[in-house]
Amino acid sequence: MAGPSHNHRVIVLRKIKLGESDLILTMLSSDGSQLRAVAKGARKPQSPFSARLELYSVADVLIASGRSLGIIQEARAVSANAALHASLELSACAAPVAELLWRVSQEGLPVLRLFDCTQAAFETLGRVAPEDGPRICAAALIKILAFCGFRPSLTYCVSCGTPIDAPFNGEGDVSFSATEGGVVCQRCRAHVESVRVPWSAVRTADVLLRSTFSDIVASPLDQRTVFAVLQLEHQWIREHISCSMKSLLFLFSCGLF
Ligand SMILES: [Zn+2]
Repeated sequence: MAGPSHNHRVIVLRKIKLGESDLILTMLSSDGSQLRAVAKGARKPQSPFSARLELYSVADVLIASGRSLGIIQEARAVSANAALHASLELSACAAPVAELLWRVSQEGLPVLRLFDCTQAAFETLGRVAPEDGPRICAAALIKILAFCGFRPSLTYCVSCGTPIDAPFNGEGDVSFSATEGGVVCQRCRAHVESVRVPWSAVRTADVLLRSTFSDIVASPLDQRTVFAVLQLEHQWIREHISCSMKSLLFLFSCGLF
């Protein structure tokens, strides 16, 4: 029997089939915590849930506490973010954001600004051209990582704290240690295990972290640099979230780079 019911504003992150026609939804709640609940009959074409609880959409839901998972009793669409389903490329840019969120958000653990950041990211993705999608994705990933406590050090050496200077002419590579937590200076390279990454990727990741999505839309970036930022983030996620994100691998192969 259903328990007490509560209203939540959510963003739908993930859907898993349950039984013949139900879905288990993983959602980000407005306080930045994760919510999971069953939408009964949601895979039937005539179900009101099917259109109102699409991936990446914002909705108001009424959830009754269940024995293990809550049961969604009502859903009202707030923002469908339909453009993300109309374009394969934009959908491919939204998917890593949703995947990272379901991996790092936790039930009962509010994270300030996570919901607003995600809502802004999906809203922005919905109004840009496909080729502008990857840098919005890259910005959303680094911001989500920072909000959840996985912020890399992009400007100071993780070993000695020295500010990292741009290599000659701002080109070239710098040392980066995902294990130790970020960039490594010339002097510490000898005793910190690191890999060489493009300086432009490190600098751009830092700019994306500090910029609003509106500013990022207004500032075109070299697609090769955006790709390098996404690869840096993938490396960081593998090390700190212990997963290889399939959605990022798909984004790398969907023709945008
Ligand atoms: Zn150092």
